[in-house]
Amino acid sequence: MNCLKMLHAKIMKCQKCPLSQLRTKAVPGEGSIGAKIMFIGQAPGREEDKTGRPFVGRAGKFLDELFQANGISREEVFLTGSVKCFPPDNRVPKREELLACKPYLIEQIVLVNPRMVVFLGNVAQKFLLNEEILKGRIIFFTYHPAAGMRFPKIKEKMAEDFNRLVDIAQENRLLKSF
Ligand code: SF4
Repeated sequence: MNCLKMLHAKIMKCQKCPLSQLRTKAVPGEGSIGAKIMFIGQAPGREEDKTGRPFVGRAGKFLDELFQANGISREEVFLTGSVKCFPPDNRVPKREELLACKPYLIEQIVLVNPRMVVFLGNVAQKFLLNEEILKGRIIFFTYHPAAGMRFPKIKEKMAEDFNRLVDIAQENRLLKSF
């Protein structure tokens, strides 16, 4: 078992915060060591909680549309969240939950070592932005797909953001299709 798989196995059993009592499955994230782009969202939703997979609910489908429109495949990026367990009613994770879960996210960044980190929404941003681990990486901000799905203006902005993201990926050879 590689280090990333070992870390994900640990996350699946984690009981470091109260979200462990409410989850069906923890959702560590998906992708491989060596992915050059890591997308970090907020937290698993209901569908993710059932399946243990990131971005498989409605917001995930919208993210897939953005990926497809821009020639990005899920297999070549890494997808994860700021916390790995479903917060009831899709609420924003509490500070103590984010803090408890943060070492897992940091370890994922160390192991995957992405050249570019994309923050989907501002939850992870607030907790990670000043971390040493981000130094030397390309940092990119956009909205959370759940917001893009609901609000047409944000949807438009996300489409523009993804065009920019792909330009940067192209310049830096971060995607296989380029
Ligand atoms: S959210 Fe993170 S810290 Fe809390 S139980 Fe799940 S994996 Fe552990």
